Amino acid sequence: MELTITAKVKISPNEEQKKLLLETLQAVKVGCNFVSEQVYQSKVLTRAKLINMTYETLRSHYSLRSQMSQSIAIAVIAKYKSAKSNDHNWSLVRFKKPEYDLVFNRDYSIRPNKIFSVNTLEGRVQIPYETKGMEHFFDGTWRFGTAKLVYKKQKYFLHIPMTKEIPDADLKEVKNILGVDVGLNFLAVTFNSQDTTTFFKGRHRKDKRGQYKRVRKSLQQKQTPSARRRLRAIGSRENRWMTDVNHQVSKALVEHAGKNSLIVLEELEGIRSATEKVRKRDRWYTVGWAFYQLRQMIEYKAKRNQSTVIAVDPAYTSQTCPKCGHTEKANRNKKKHIFHCKTCGYISNDDRIGAMNLHRKGMEYLVAVTTSA
Ligand SMILES: [Zn+2]
Repeated sequence: MELTITAKVKISPNEEQKKLLLETLQAVKVGCNFVSEQVYQSKVLTRAKLINMTYETLRSHYSLRSQMSQSIAIAVIAKYKSAKSNDHNWSLVRFKKPEYDLVFNRDYSIRPNKIFSVNTLEGRVQIPYETKGMEHFFDGTWRFGTAKLVYKKQKYFLHIPMTKEIPDADLKEVKNILGVDVGLNFLAVTFNSQDTTTFFKGRHRKDKRGQYKRVRKSLQQKQTPSARRRLRAIGSRENRWMTDVNHQVSKALVEHAGKNSLIVLEELEGIRSATEKVRKRDRWYTVGWAFYQLRQMIEYKAKRNQSTVIAVDPAYTSQTCPKCGHTEKANRNKKKHIFHCKTCGYISNDDRIGAMNLHRKGMEYLVAVTTSA
């Protein structure tokens, strides 16, 4: 079974590159619309044939480079095919947004050393990207798909579909699904297949973190060598403490899940933070190394317990009704900490909604995996 998630990455082009990317996006859009008209009239959806039909014109009239001309034909075919599979009548597909489909290792490449390289009107350019949350995609188990270069509100993003092979043998034995919503007020909230919500409390963690922060701040202001020494000492003490907490939490969670469980976590924040609003709550924690470490510990301990860990897209987990799936911002009353579904009327404390939705996503995932095998 294959698992695909979309990594959303912010890239940081310099002023010159920004201009070049925008020109490239514009040229690609015009080129796509030209090719789309040819497809609309000729109904040709064969890659080689369409490239033959349009290549020379794209090169000479639209000044597009060789590889880009081919990628445009591929992108247009994909759009027509997806329109057709959505049961749309044969109609002209228009390209309105500044987007550019990039084939991996041909139109773009991306390396763990912070460099994203892309084909433009002026040839290859190398652009730094935000690596946070991307690190684990370079562990050799993920495949990079055809990426989209997206221009939105003066900023540039890459949407890269990442695919990984998941062993499905483990999943046939699943006896419990545990949705785990990790936070700071509660170390974690879980929801399992017996419809039980469990709160792993961690009130003191927030306080302790606050204490460390205050001490650090006063030491930073002093600027003396001894203050800096103490700062370093406190920093490593705080890290050791955090690691300790992570060991305890991961152990408790995996034990609570039991053998043959599917543990469902939220995808790491760095991957989505580029384009989506994230929960401000506990942000320092969910973007930091500690959260990443906790997840690695859970994965490691789960494996030893015949359990599997998956991470799912956390979009809307706090706004979606876990009973009927209805998503609306107004479902949640933050002030009163109440979740009240506008469609089916389901009411609950809002702390458990995230875990319930992760549990639900785990069920959907399991159905998809076991029925496709
Ligand atoms: Zn509902």
